[in-house]
Amino acid sequence: MTKVSMAHGAGGRSMQRLLRERVLPHLLTDKGEVPLSALDDSGVIDDIVMTTDSHTVKPLFFPGGDIGSLSVAGTVNDISVMGATPIALSLAMVIEEGMEADDLEKIARSIGRTANKAGVPIITGDTKVVERGAVDKLILNTSAFGKRSPALDANLAIVAKHRTIHSRWLEDRNVADGDVIIVSGTLGDHGVAILSARKGYGFDADVVSDIAPLNGMIVRALAVGGIAAMKDPTRGGLANTLNEFSEKSKVGIEIEEEKIPIRQAVRSACNLLGIDPLEIGNEGKAVMAVVPGKADDVLAALRATPEGREAAIIGKAMKSVRGVVMRTRVGGRRIVEAPIADPVPRIC
Ligand code: MG
Repeated sequence: MTKVSMAHGAGGRSMQRLLRERVLPHLLTDKGEVPLSALDDSGVIDDIVMTTDSHTVKPLFFPGGDIGSLSVAGTVNDISVMGATPIALSLAMVIEEGMEADDLEKIARSIGRTANKAGVPIITGDTKVVERGAVDKLILNTSAFGKRSPALDANLAIVAKHRTIHSRWLEDRNVADGDVIIVSGTLGDHGVAILSARKGYGFDADVVSDIAPLNGMIVRALAVGGIAAMKDPTRGGLANTLNEFSEKSKVGIEIEEEKIPIRQAVRSACNLLGIDPLEIGNEGKAVMAVVPGKADDVLAALRATPEGREAAIIGKAMKSVRGVVMRTRVGGRRIVEAPIADPVPRIC
């Protein structure tokens, strides 16, 4: 008998397999314009965009954020990377008996601050308390819905001048040969910040989480136009995001190691722990596939925002490449596979 393991919750291949074998066959996965079977950042039905996330991060507070800011930003971002405008959020709390009310209030304050910053109100919620030991202090679930924006139509009209588009939304399957791959900033900060906050890892990296709602930044990029696909590289990191682009769009992707922005402290921490910064989850970054003629302008628009200051062009989609390949600093080539599981459990 198979039992669910931590790997099944880590956003990588193990989780995909569990869902495909044990969960999705029982659900109507083909309903909607972007159905559940697309396994994209959000679903779309009747032009309404919807997403949901549960948050189990350990510890609840860490450098650069807490479970509250994380839950709001993560959900706002899943709506935004579809090219949609987030309209409203829900918030459900499952609280362990014995949790300090002061901690709960601190988290509520953080939720309110992040929702205000994003300009997305919380309009409904739910509260449950379970007995000691039934959950680890607190689980938050946030859902959101969003709507189509005129900026998305204008953006896709520019893509359509270059080639056929497969979706009216910025789906993972929209990447095509020649698209330029842009990442909106440094990778690995969130995962390393969480690890540095956990006791027993024996290092104290001076890294803070990148948690940020990205709807403002994304609107600026959409206004330039030419973005075909977008995804937030959360669990499984850039490696997982690019493999989803590649598999769903049936096109190869080549990236250059020296162009990928990674902080030195993150690099050092990853070396020490033997983990790959490309596989670590991020909570304030977006990866985009942009038609070649617009890539420099989209990059400039991103760099003009506080969240996208360190955006970079890291590679491009190529018919001639199979899967995801990275040209390394020393001139070699390495296959970048989708991770089996996130190297850092419970980071979101
Ligand atoms: Mg996502």
